[in-house]
Amino acid sequence: MLLDNHGRKINYLRLAVTDRCNLRCFYCMPEEGLDWLSRKELMTYEEMLQSCTLLVKMGIEKIRITGGEPFVRKDIMQFLTALSELEGLKELTITTNGVLTAPHVAELKRIGVTSVNLSLDTLDAGRFFAITKRDEFADVMDTLHQLLKHDIEVKINAVVMDGKNIQDIIPLVQLTRDLPVSVRFIEEMPFNGDGHIYDGLKWDHIRILEEIKSKYPDLQKITDPLYSTAYNYQVPGHKGSVGIIAAYSRTFCGSCNRIRITPEGTLKTCLYDDGALNIKNLMRDGVNEQDMKAILLNAFNNKAKDGWEAEQLRVVRTGVHESMATIGG
Ligand code: SAM
Ligand code: SF4
Repeated sequence: MLLDNHGRKINYLRLAVTDRCNLRCFYCMPEEGLDWLSRKELMTYEEMLQSCTLLVKMGIEKIRITGGEPFVRKDIMQFLTALSELEGLKELTITTNGVLTAPHVAELKRIGVTSVNLSLDTLDAGRFFAITKRDEFADVMDTLHQLLKHDIEVKINAVVMDGKNIQDIIPLVQLTRDLPVSVRFIEEMPFNGDGHIYDGLKWDHIRILEEIKSKYPDLQKITDPLYSTAYNYQVPGHKGSVGIIAAYSRTFCGSCNRIRITPEGTLKTCLYDDGALNIKNLMRDGVNEQDMKAILLNAFNNKAKDGWEAEQLRVVRTGVHESMATIGG
């Protein structure tokens, strides 16, 4: 079992396979996009598979593929299939914006993907365009229905943004009445890729909960799954559930079980740190498996206590401002 220096089990890897994206969610990246990584800077599928193989041998049980948008990377399905065959891997999941996902859903089911996080901040096509700068709402909804049709668990991720989608909170909760989905409201974080610093978080987890309770006073707290980053609730009689993720307030760090690898191979032991090492560079320098294992263990033994400490320890102390697409969310 892999443990960090705070005695927490590490069994979950979030791997971002690209920084590129076909949407421009304003909370994630500027409209002109990012200074995309070149092919050489990007980890190859072979390098990713090799890293995952080693990490699974070391104790990782669950891998989430994210990005950027995973489905814009060529041959992603071949890579997912290879990953799904890794001995010792118990769970393979994906976070996607759903624009290109629908045609792959049957194959995802076949290779054993049991759960998908779908990003959807609004149920209104006009507001979807205002938030993402792309007219792709219908395709995202198609993905939602395909996932449900194929009996894949769906968690909807909705970032709560002052002045942008507050009117969507109640309709998104309403969606759980007839659909067996978990709608998770996420506090907006400063990872927007353009250095814009928010003047305080207007919608924290407490205010989001109050907003939901104003319409659903009988909202019930339900048991949070092990390692859950969300506080989970249910409206009595609804098929689905509601979660609130205090991503900015960082109330969940005490049970953190995760590490991240960015598209260029940086290992992050906390979402808010600026990287412990670069696994791709080490592999390209010819570091053997045994040494790599020791280097990784050392990084896990220096994991920050929480996101506040990780942010404090960043080398460049300008606050977090990189795009979530370069981290993986
Ligand atoms: N493109 C895919 C998607 O949107 O689902 C995967 C990558 S995206 C970076 C992963 C998650 O991060 C999404 O659910 C997105 O809403 C969330 N995210 C991005 N920027 C964020 C921010 N500034 N604050 C909170 N969540 C953010
Ligand atoms: Fe793309 Fe996901 Fe970032 Fe939106 S949140 S711009 S879909 S990477």
